Amino acid sequence: MSTLRVHWTIAPAIAPRPLINCNRCGDIKPYRCSKKFRVNANGKRIDVWLIYRCVGCDNSWNFTILERRNRHDIEPARLAALENNDPALVRRFAFDAASLCNRAGRVEDSPDVTVRKDLLDGEPGHADALALELRLDGTTPLRLDRLLAGELGLSRSRLQALDDRRRLTIEPDGAKALRKPVRDGLAVRIDLAKEADCRAILSAACR
Ligand SMILES: [Zn+2]
Repeated sequence: MSTLRVHWTIAPAIAPRPLINCNRCGDIKPYRCSKKFRVNANGKRIDVWLIYRCVGCDNSWNFTILERRNRHDIEPARLAALENNDPALVRRFAFDAASLCNRAGRVEDSPDVTVRKDLLDGEPGHADALALELRLDGTTPLRLDRLLAGELGLSRSRLQALDDRRRLTIEPDGAKALRKPVRDGLAVRIDLAKEADCRAILSAACR
């Protein structure tokens, strides 16, 4: 049996939105990232926030990035990136769901992801098994079975049937991982030797 090995890099497509008790709306509302930092220098002390805005009324909420830090402890290049709303830096903080959740209490995760597929070994036309290595960049509420179904063009019941016939293995968590959010470092292996649409599944896996 020849195996097609593919690496998937999964990234959330939409930054998580903190759920804030908005005093203007009088309700709990998701706040979206404005992609702008606010840098406040007071003498030697610097505070930096990433600004979020209520989807209902545009009210702002500050996500603390640096608190009362000494200006000399911050690299000039870093400070310049913050002052210029460097998009890569914005993205790093905006997708840090754990820190955001620490500050806001609750966040609303979107299940939308982008998947980059890199073929590691094998050819879709000459393989009868698929080995996927999953790397998750950030966090997502997207379930593994929904990810696999969407990307491979299979129904979730078919994935379940493959599992029932022991054609599907998931390391390190086993089949129970199918109904849980995608985790970084999962390895999925599917034996497709008896599947009539083996080729179609394998090409979907690396396309
Ligand atoms: Zn509001």
